[in-house]
Amino acid sequence: MNLLEISIQFCAFVLAILLIYLTFHRNRLGLRNNRAYLNLLLTATVCVIFDIHTVFGLYRMDEWGEPITRIIFKVYLASLLWTAFSGFYYIINSLTDAEKIRRRMLITMDVGVVAGTFIIWYLPLLLPNNGQHYYFDGASMYATYILAASFLAGGIFFTITHRGYMSRHTYKSIMLWMAIWIVGTVIQYAVQVFPILAFSIILGLTVIFAELENPESYYDRETGLYTAHALRAYLNQFYEEGKRFAGLEVSIDLVEENFTPDQRTNLLVTLAGRLYDIPDVKCFRNITDDFFLIFESREKLEEIYPRVKKLMSEPVEGLTMTETFRVAYVMFPDSTIVQSAEDIFRFHSVFIPKNPDQDTTVVDDEAVGELRRQNEVRQMILDAFKEDRIEVYYQPIYSISDKAFISAEALVRIIDRDGQIVMPKTFVPVAEESDLILKLGEIVFEKVCRFISQTAFSALGLKYIEINLSVAQCEQSTLAGDFQRIMAKYGINPSRINLEITESGKLSARDILVKNMDTLIKSGVHFSLDDFGTGQSNIDYIMNMPVQIVKFDRSMMETFFSGERTRFVIRHIVDMVKQMGMETVSEGVETKEQYEAIVALGVDHIQGFYFSRPLPAKEFVYFIKAHNLG
Ligand code: C2E
Ligand code: MG
Ligand code: MG
Repeated sequence: MNLLEISIQFCAFVLAILLIYLTFHRNRLGLRNNRAYLNLLLTATVCVIFDIHTVFGLYRMDEWGEPITRIIFKVYLASLLWTAFSGFYYIINSLTDAEKIRRRMLITMDVGVVAGTFIIWYLPLLLPNNGQHYYFDGASMYATYILAASFLAGGIFFTITHRGYMSRHTYKSIMLWMAIWIVGTVIQYAVQVFPILAFSIILGLTVIFAELENPESYYDRETGLYTAHALRAYLNQFYEEGKRFAGLEVSIDLVEENFTPDQRTNLLVTLAGRLYDIPDVKCFRNITDDFFLIFESREKLEEIYPRVKKLMSEPVEGLTMTETFRVAYVMFPDSTIVQSAEDIFRFHSVFIPKNPDQDTTVVDDEAVGELRRQNEVRQMILDAFKEDRIEVYYQPIYSISDKAFISAEALVRIIDRDGQIVMPKTFVPVAEESDLILKLGEIVFEKVCRFISQTAFSALGLKYIEINLSVAQCEQSTLAGDFQRIMAKYGINPSRINLEITESGKLSARDILVKNMDTLIKSGVHFSLDDFGTGQSNIDYIMNMPVQIVKFDRSMMETFFSGERTRFVIRHIVDMVKQMGMETVSEGVETKEQYEAIVALGVDHIQGFYFSRPLPAKEFVYFIKAHNLG
């Protein structure tokens, strides 16, 4: 026998061994398509090995005996079938988000390949007989060709019909691979003395390796950790297979201006290197400055978390005092609290601790429940916008010197689809977490303006309406202009409007607020300081903000009744505010006793359930008519 006769098969074998080495030499994530590829590669290698043996069999039939030769050839045929099957199997596993299709196809295919193997095994096979035919022949061989060709055709058909489930790159690579297999099969069939089939099988797999299965493509070049793309695939697989895991996001928060690009890279590479060395953890580099760690269980996470924190806090070489950074952690102790990898990606940015005093948030059932509730509320607000279910209620404010109700506070309500009233404490804080508060504020402002324009305002003895402003509105440089435009649209005299601002730690652009206030004050709008007595530095506001009215919070009045010392303090605060030329309002007056005490204190205006709860516009007008004119 001439070794040249198996040279092509031998090349295929060497290439297969090389591919196996390249596939195995880096530790792998064990993604489903990686496993399917490995399966395909091993099956194809077995096929090549038996292909080589069939050539030996041709020459050594006398030595090996007929039964052994027959078995070797049948195993070869079966492995050919299994290779075609594994090819199809790989294609199905390349689909993303198609778990159902995958399962259904797999059952059909499993039945096909097992039945096919039996058919090949039991159908007759003619051994080479130099007189009639040079190579093997018989029904078993034709059955193999037909079955393998069916898998091949099935794979191509499936790829074309399901291309929506794979990336364009995957699609193109699979088609190239299939083309190589087809060409190989056709040549082998047409020119039997040129045994190229085995080589074309491995060549096809080389294409898949280079284009789709190279383990290097799962590694981030800069840090050596797995990429965000690998993270997505890995998490998807956990959810598709219904397996649990625990996760930890490690987010590096740095002020970009303080870092040169090199320093930043150096920092990330250093930190990544420390994470890389932790055993029993899979580390990913998520978008930009985020790392994501996956643990097999909650216990592992809890065990390793302190170590991660310690590693992240060790000094980094090459950084000075100005290049500081903060590390924030988001813990996912139990993957089953969300339903998909998408949820994890959606949540992690939401849960990153924003407050510098806190470095870790734990995403547990409660946190996710809270987030869901917030999403529902957000949706409710959006629906209310669309369906015009935002209502403004008015709570009368009594002037002691005028002995009449001269104003009211506008308080927003949502009327839900069942006609129930939703209170601001349910939705205002949620709206304040996003831009929704801007739209909400504008709707309230416009509704109040319309109300004023449609009501015989001064005839009723009313002077102005107080409207709450939220911090985000104050920080909009367009606020003053927007409000002036709306007032002009309804022909409102700006002195009819009093805007309530609150002291808030959230305010970051105080200069914009002051500019807005100046512009609006010039046009005639007045301002109140709301909730006095609840913030930390209200005094600063009174001294530095151009407010005309100070509203004492309900809690301050409660304090007033709690003891002699507090009464003394509050009396002096009221005096101080009045001496500074500001008017005062007491909020939350509920009883006659409180009312009398507050009158005695010398407060100018009173707002509270003692007189009235907030009322819908119409009822408010009745109320004012009855009390001011009656
Ligand atoms: P706030 O501005 O301090 O409004 C006073 C709140 O105290 C109102 O609650 C009012 O109904 C309630 N109140 C008045 N008198 C009494 C009383 O005698 N006893 C008791 N227990 N409560 C009394 P409401 O309407 O639920 O509003 C709560 C908060 O929601 C408001 O507090 C304000 O911060 C916010 N809010 C309401 N409407 C708006 C709005 O249009 N925009 C913004 N940004 N916030 C609003
Ligand atoms: Mg208010
Ligand atoms: Mg208040």
